[in-house]
Amino acid sequence: MADASYDVVVIGGGHNALITSCYLAANGLSVAVFERSHELGGGTCSEELPLPGFVSNQCSHSTRFYSHPAYADFNLAEKGLDLVFPEAGCGCGFPDGTYIVTYPTWPVVDKMTGKTEFSAENAEKTFKSIARISERDAETCRFIFEKFRTKWLPAIVETQYSPPTPWGVKDAVERLMDDPESGFDPVYAVMTVEQLARDLFESVEMQCFFMRRQSTQMGTYGEDVIGPHGALRNLATVLSVAASSITIGGSHSIAHALQKALSDQGGKFFVHHEVDKVLVENGTAKGIRLVDGTEIEAKKMVISGVDPTQTIARFIGPEYVSPKLLRRAANIKYDRGQLHWANVAMHELPKYTADDYDPDFILCANKTLIIKDTDYHASKWKAEIWLDGMAKYLALVVWEDTRWAPMKAPPGKHNAMAEDYAPPARFLTEKQWLELKVK
Ligand SMILES: Cc1cc2nc3c(=O)[nH]c(=O)nc-3n(C[C@H](O)[C@H](O)[C@H](O)COP(=O)(O)OP(=O)(O)OC[C@H]3O[C@@H](n4cnc5c(N)ncnc54)[C@H](O)[C@@H]3O)c2cc1C
Repeated sequence: MADASYDVVVIGGGHNALITSCYLAANGLSVAVFERSHELGGGTCSEELPLPGFVSNQCSHSTRFYSHPAYADFNLAEKGLDLVFPEAGCGCGFPDGTYIVTYPTWPVVDKMTGKTEFSAENAEKTFKSIARISERDAETCRFIFEKFRTKWLPAIVETQYSPPTPWGVKDAVERLMDDPESGFDPVYAVMTVEQLARDLFESVEMQCFFMRRQSTQMGTYGEDVIGPHGALRNLATVLSVAASSITIGGSHSIAHALQKALSDQGGKFFVHHEVDKVLVENGTAKGIRLVDGTEIEAKKMVISGVDPTQTIARFIGPEYVSPKLLRRAANIKYDRGQLHWANVAMHELPKYTADDYDPDFILCANKTLIIKDTDYHASKWKAEIWLDGMAKYLALVVWEDTRWAPMKAPPGKHNAMAEDYAPPARFLTEKQWLELKVK
């Protein structure tokens, strides 16, 4: 006999599981979430780092969460989720002072609902900034924005909020490639990041900017094929189609608001509750067992918000899974795009050479600081990282939250997050990692 019983039992309290739980609870099901950690949220976590009084995020940092339907459906803005929107989007600065500034093309016009509206003014500002470097690249961006508005955005939204299509049925993004008016050339689906960069842009600046931001978006490198979804999304991000936002109080405020929404719908959650097994009877999931042996019955379903490897190999077990699925789960690699992630405490905000030329550069939500060398970003950067642990030329992306959210640091102080790439942990010995730390 089970120790407790719910319609739906959810393993892991990451923000995706929380959103699912909120919708199920809102539709009348009794839902309980079991989370191994001390708080809900998973990757949307924040801690007091690197010094007392500084709030830093360790995973999800910059967010476009306002665009998720759950934001409005559960009134998360009223449940304490407060976002702030930098005036400019992604910026890119080079050592010689050249720079690119992009501006949100669909800025948020209503913070309570997350409603966005197309801003022709911001789009023009982005074209102007790029045209200083290359008229042709600015025209490419104009073309991309037009196609994004009319064709790409509806396809992205449809695939994002629909179940995967059955075998042989194209999803909305795949259908774009059949539409000659879509502007999305089918060959983009098989191009590497470097090929896309060189095909789309003529300037070294835009090529390097696109490639480095692609790493941030998907953890991939110049030689990777990112497919149609990756290409669409990265172009949209580099050009700041959607406004980036900073979560006041840290990313875990997203989880806190979802947690409140779940409680308001009658859902339950349990932290420090690690799940060990899904209980299966006659091929159907009937509940879970925690590591302490407690058994929980699921009257309608068990949902896992945990990675597929653990879900398949540990919770369900090989006896209930086909060899093909087991093989595929085992083939998932989690250590290809590793990050050096630095949460920095500062007495004052940094100054950039580009600021001398354009005061808007400092208003960029994030700044990509790289050298101007397409070949370096396409291949040598990764080669140096994987061989030596760190590249000769850092390729930083920097977020300075306290420019807009001063409460994330003690009065008069600042924090920032800086990201570069790292090799898989197993490539270096413990001694080599410690040497790198000192460097
Ligand atoms: C370094 C880094 C930087 C990132 N930067 C960004 C960013 O800037 N913006 C952005 O939008 N996204 C970013 N992401 C991605 C984002 O964090 C993830 O996509 C998101 O957190 C995934 O959410 P999830 O709910 O699917 O899973 P997770 O957040 O991984 O949640 C899974 C939960 O399951 C729990 N769990 C695991 N095992 C068990 C068990 N046996 N029993 C019970 N509970 C268990 C975990 O503790 C966790 O809470 C970043 C991720 C990383 C790692």
